[in-house]
Amino acid sequence: MYVVWNKRLLSELVRTFPKDSALLGRDTVRALMYYALKVWSDIAPLNFHEVAGSDADIQIDFTKADHDDGYPFDGPGGTVAHAFFPGERFTAGDTHFDDDEAWTFRSPDHLQAPGEAAGGQHKDFEGVFQCHRLGTV
Ligand SMILES: [Zn+2]
Repeated sequence: MYVVWNKRLLSELVRTFPKDSALLGRDTVRALMYYALKVWSDIAPLNFHEVAGSDADIQIDFTKADHDDGYPFDGPGGTVAHAFFPGERFTAGDTHFDDDEAWTFRSPDHLQAPGEAAGGQHKDFEGVFQCHRLGTV
């Protein structure tokens, strides 16, 4: 993977959160995103810091269905997340999670790998991040 940002300190912002905050609180989401980005900063000369403004390099959204970037989500199951490489596109660097999934973290009923589950299954962040490390998401 080539990272083509021309700077090494990148800002990130969790712009929207899962609709069901009873399953996954905001502080947990922000902490999870920090560790997700750390997967990159461990292997590339990059550092990330969280910002509060609207011009973060990496904007993280929980969204669903058609969300105006040309890659509509497909409801529960199927595609659970996607991310855009850096570049000129308006979504460059952004990461989207399908909010039609029931996101959890270390949920005891997490039994299936992300992408395999049928509708209604919880999506566990730990599993998604493990896929990231393997380069399959
Ligand atoms: Zn998207």
